[in-house]
Amino acid sequence: MVSTVIPVQPFDLVIFGATGDLAKRKILPSLYRRLAVHQMPEGARVIGAARSKMTRAEFRKQTLAALQEFVAPDLLKPDLVEQFIASVDYVPVDAGGEDGWAQLAKKLGEKPDHIRAFYLSVAPALFAVIADKLAAAGVATPSSRIVVEKPLGKDLASARALNAQLSKHFTEAQIYRIDHYLGKETVQNLMAIRFANALFEPLWNARYVDHVQITVAENLGVAGRGEYYDKSGAMRDMVQNHLMQLLCLTAMEPPAHFEPNMVRDEKLKVIRSLEPLKLSDIVRGQYRANGSGSSYLDDVKNPQSRTESFIAIRAHIQNWRWAGTPFYLRTGKKLSARLSEICVVFRDPPHSIFPKVDDLRGNALIIRLQPNEGITMRVTIKDPGPGGMRLTEVPLDMTFAKALGGEAEMPEAYERLIMDVIRGDQTLFMRGDEVEAAWSWVDPIIDAWTDAGSKPQQYDPGSAGPIDAYKLTSSDGHLWREIAT
Ligand code: NAP
Repeated sequence: MVSTVIPVQPFDLVIFGATGDLAKRKILPSLYRRLAVHQMPEGARVIGAARSKMTRAEFRKQTLAALQEFVAPDLLKPDLVEQFIASVDYVPVDAGGEDGWAQLAKKLGEKPDHIRAFYLSVAPALFAVIADKLAAAGVATPSSRIVVEKPLGKDLASARALNAQLSKHFTEAQIYRIDHYLGKETVQNLMAIRFANALFEPLWNARYVDHVQITVAENLGVAGRGEYYDKSGAMRDMVQNHLMQLLCLTAMEPPAHFEPNMVRDEKLKVIRSLEPLKLSDIVRGQYRANGSGSSYLDDVKNPQSRTESFIAIRAHIQNWRWAGTPFYLRTGKKLSARLSEICVVFRDPPHSIFPKVDDLRGNALIIRLQPNEGITMRVTIKDPGPGGMRLTEVPLDMTFAKALGGEAEMPEAYERLIMDVIRGDQTLFMRGDEVEAAWSWVDPIIDAWTDAGSKPQQYDPGSAGPIDAYKLTSSDGHLWREIAT
């Protein structure tokens, strides 16, 4: 068994946007899976809220359909499904209007001792509106939690405004900003590997680490959400949040305790130590059409678009631990594979006593988030057999599904994060000042390329991005890892 179930107190989780895509694909299935491992306590209620005029029975039917579509069939046990569906309720609420708020307040008032959490699975424009309405309806108690998810602003000014709007009614300790990458087992394991083993920490610095590569690659394009994506681009959509969070966890100092604010203080220090980016540290790309596949410009229906569907960045952290070690970040759409990983590449031994072998890449620790979550250590060994001392490289493989007994038992990121909200543990959530600091780093460079009117470079679908992305690392004598599963 991979996960240990820690009981939580009875709760009411109100999902605004309960009829939407995120609720159906992630939130409701995750809650069911927690019920299936007996973590959802008796009496817990999941209350859907959206404008659609629906009865409780109709919403339960919709919830059942979501479970059937998004939960593995072998986990769908009839008695558990029935139990889950019985915990689900619905109130039609118009976030922007007056309808439904009194009914919601009445329902929540039935269980005043329940932990109360409001998950805003709606367009970000509604975050502040809903926060105001929750306060006005008297349902936001001093212990309620509010959960929001990216995009948290589109620049520093809008992120600040959002933080200010939320904090009118909620303290920082009540605000849970989700970055679902932080809920992934491997990402948490990065902290365990670093801080629960004496082996790595002495080597975890510029003296021994040659460079770090963080890759979040997708093989699909933006078709289907082109309009949203074109206003955002890879920098805002991926770098400012997910890649920055992975960078922080890789580079941060050990906190004194594994305590939410201490962990977040250390992450914030990393962001504040980042050297301002220069245009020469960045390569932007847009995928072109090939064969029957459409181009980025076709997908977003905007032939003039200069938004990037790919970005590669060379970042430097100006502190004692990391000065001189580049951190390369890249993310993009329609690349050769769907893959997310962090690769920490160690320096070569100071002197080799063996004959030189050209294609050896040296020691690396590869932390794979998807697919096949796990950690691999690349080590150099003697090629087995006679014929002298020939060297080769092998992976020491710690794929969790293999090591710990089956992928099915790995909890999904949202399961962990929602239960952390109920438990009141903010360790894996972004603090407002982190979000603002991340925008402070990316904003000037977005402004700079907008002012320069620079165009992203074209790249072939199924490739590893534009040619200049190769040059970004090769000019430093480094090579990107292949994007392959
Ligand atoms: P969606 O499918 O468009 O759903 C939006 C939901 O909001 C619907 O349930 C809609 O229901 C409800 N809604 C709209 N206006 C409302 C109003 N005035 N009052 C109350 N409810 C209202 O969106 P989504 O994909 O689920 O995304 C939700 C949020 O999560 C967005 O901020 C998105 O950026 C973020 N997000 C989504 C994903 C994902 O995988 N989908 C991933 C990361 C982040 P009615 O029309 O019935 O009101």
